[in-house]
Formats: sequence, structure tokens, C-alpha cells
Amino acid sequence: MRVTFPRLGTMHIFCKAIAETAGIPYLVPPKTSRKTLALGVKSSNECICLPFKVILGNFIEALQMGADTIVMVGSGPPCRLGLYDLVHKVILEDLGLHYRWLTIPPRLTWDALMKNYQETKPLRKELTLKNYLTFPYALYIGWRKMLATERLEKLAMVARPREATKGSTQRNLQRTLHMLDEAKGGKEISEAIRDGEKIIQDTEQDPGRRPLKVAIVGELYTVMDSDINRGVEQRLGELGVAVTRTSWFSTHIGRSLGLGGEQKRERLRFYQASLEYLGYDVGGECNVSVGETIIRAKEGYDGVVHLMPFSCMPETTAAAILKQVSKDHHIPVLTLILDEQDVEGRIQTLLEAFVDMLLWRREKEV
Ligand code: SF4
Repeated sequence: MRVTFPRLGTMHIFCKAIAETAGIPYLVPPKTSRKTLALGVKSSNECICLPFKVILGNFIEALQMGADTIVMVGSGPPCRLGLYDLVHKVILEDLGLHYRWLTIPPRLTWDALMKNYQETKPLRKELTLKNYLTFPYALYIGWRKMLATERLEKLAMVARPREATKGSTQRNLQRTLHMLDEAKGGKEISEAIRDGEKIIQDTEQDPGRRPLKVAIVGELYTVMDSDINRGVEQRLGELGVAVTRTSWFSTHIGRSLGLGGEQKRERLRFYQASLEYLGYDVGGECNVSVGETIIRAKEGYDGVVHLMPFSCMPETTAAAILKQVSKDHHIPVLTLILDEQDVEGRIQTLLEAFVDMLLWRREKEV
């Protein structure tokens, strides 16, 4: 058995930690690249959303490199994510690739657990007693690494707009994420977190800067994966913007498990705010994109960047409503539609123009 999973943002760090700690052989798909996209695009319907194509490309690459078991997350209607696994399986079979499949259910219902039980029957035969016994600890290690990566990324979001040397925060972030990825066991993880925080906080700063405040909202895959959004978060930070986002792995996992405390309350707040324009839950992150924009306007943010994959159903709805929200709540919104054709230059130009407009607006208000 050799397990693989989609490559999404920093997810590979904690997926790898779980497999490694539990002693389950694994293969991390290569970093999403032009080749990954080309493989996914070639075998997909052109109208399907970008994450479908990227994840398919991840799986094709991983299977060609020797993985044989795919672990995928599930979702419910109305979003297409709930159908990804069914269609991916058909395409991979048509391509002549051999795999076993395990979908992690989005909700722990009785039906989902039974389906999961059936799917894992052949896999369970290959697991040893040690794999079973260490699995709870492996989940704990994975969870710690996930929270740590998010903590380091948030610190980098604060440091970037004031960095004295452009790119220094990103270099430090990559270094600290690598340290965390390599850490084994609780003690090493604690050391990696402590050292990583210090490295990012020690990035040389220019205290005279007054960063703009921008929130990134939108479809979770395009918000959380810097390869797909072409580094929007980093680009904005390096243009002098303090960026916030509320889409994190811990948010979505907590939501699925009915946990989350503060994050759960925040999402509820966004959802309730969205009811000014939407009468029901549209699906995906649509309501949150709309509601968060309204809340950020009230909190005095300078602008919102809305990310969505081409043909994403919930975010297409959100994009239309955000035009009105922008007018009603006096907050500039830049919607970036991402597809496989995107080139970095176009995104950089749009972000620079948006930031220039926000600066001009701030100066006018003073
Ligand atoms: S949210 Fe949008 S991009 Fe994501 S799976 Fe649903 S339709 Fe596709």
C-alpha cells in the first residue's frame, strides 16, 4: 500500500505527518505545476471547475510515481465537490491507472461511516496492529502540525507588508515550514514552532509603513492554495497590504466535525450578514464570501479580494452580489477569476492597480 492525497496549500505537511507517524507508506504528490494542470485539463471536461482539474492532475502524477491508494475528502450538495470522487474514479479507470479509493466523509453520519467501512475493507487487511495503535497519536501529530503551519502563515501575513527587504518574509516562511515538515514527534514540533515563530518575527521591518487592510474571500481551494492563486496573498503583502483570510484547514475540518468555537461563531456571523442579500445557503463559500465582505466593510477594511475558479457555481453567484455589496457598503472588491490559462503577469497587474486605487482612496479620505 502507498497512500496519496490531493496537494492543496500546506495540507501535504500534516497528511505526511499522519502517514509517517502511523507507519503507513505514503507518496506526497509533486508540487502543483504546469505539468499537473496539463494532465488534469487533458482528461477533464473543459467546463468543470479548476480544483477538479488540479486534483485530477495530482492523482495522475502520484499514481504514475507508484502510489496505489487515494484518500480524498468528500462533500455534500449543491457544490460539485461532492461529485469529484465519482467522476475522478471513472477518468482514472479510463486512463488505465490502478488505484484503491477512500473518501473521507464530510459529516460523520451512519451512512457515511458504513460506506467508509466498506471502502476500507481491502485496505484494513494490509494494516498492521502497530498502524492501528499509533493512528490516534498520528492524528494528534497531524493536527498539531496543521495548527502550526497556520500560525506561521498568519505571522508571515503580518510581517510581509512591513518587511525591509522584499521577499524576505516569504523566504523565512518557506524555511520555517520546511523545519516543521521535518520535525518528528511532539518535542521536535514544539522546537520547530518556537524557532519558526522567532525567525518570522525577526524578519527586518520598516516600522514607518502604514499597511492597507484587505481580506481575501472566496472558494476555499483558490484561497488556500498559492500555486492555484499564483501567490495572491504573498503578492498583496509585498505590495504593502496586511492580508487576512478566514479560510483555513482547521476552519473547514472543525466545521465538518461540528467543532471550532470562535471560528464557528465567526462563520455564523458571516452567514447571518449574507442574509441581507441571500435568502438561503447557496453552497460552497458563497454566503461566507458575501457576509465576510459586509463585515469587513463595517470593520473599516480598505478592500476585499474575491477569488474564484472559472465556472465555480457558488462563487459566480457571490461575484454578482458582491458588485452590489461593494456599492451599498462602500468597500472596493476585486474579483479574480482563476483558470488554467492564467499568467502571473495579469494577476500582478490587477493587484497593483487595485492597491494603487486603495491608496488613492485612503489619501482622498484623509
Ligand atoms: S466551490 Fe466551486 S470550484 Fe469548488 S467544487 Fe464547488 S463549484 Fe467547484
